[in-house]
Amino acid sequence: MKKLRCEKMIYKDWSSYRCPKAGKYKEGNAYWCGIHLPSRVEAKRKARHDKWTEQWDSESEVHRKREGWIDIGPELLKSLKEIMKNYVMANREEQVQQLIRRAEKFL
Ligand SMILES: [Zn+2]
Repeated sequence: MKKLRCEKMIYKDWSSYRCPKAGKYKEGNAYWCGIHLPSRVEAKRKARHDKWTEQWDSESEVHRKREGWIDIGPELLKSLKEIMKNYVMANREEQVQQLIRRAEKFL
């Protein structure tokens, strides 16, 4: 009986060879080792892709928020100062001014 061998061709250093491992799993019309089993390769690729996409989304969300604050920050501070001029916020004035000073450092 013919010994089953993994179907995967491996390309390395300008040449190629067939995976030397035993074809333990059948998928499609071919046999594959545990590493090259197409469904497993695809699942790994997908997991990697999903993780990357998730990371990308969360980073661009952070970036988007930061950009938004850079856009809106100066105007917001200006408005806040106007309000401060017109109203004395009982007991909170110093607290609000501190907040403005803190925010100004970042704009
Ligand atoms: Zn293989």
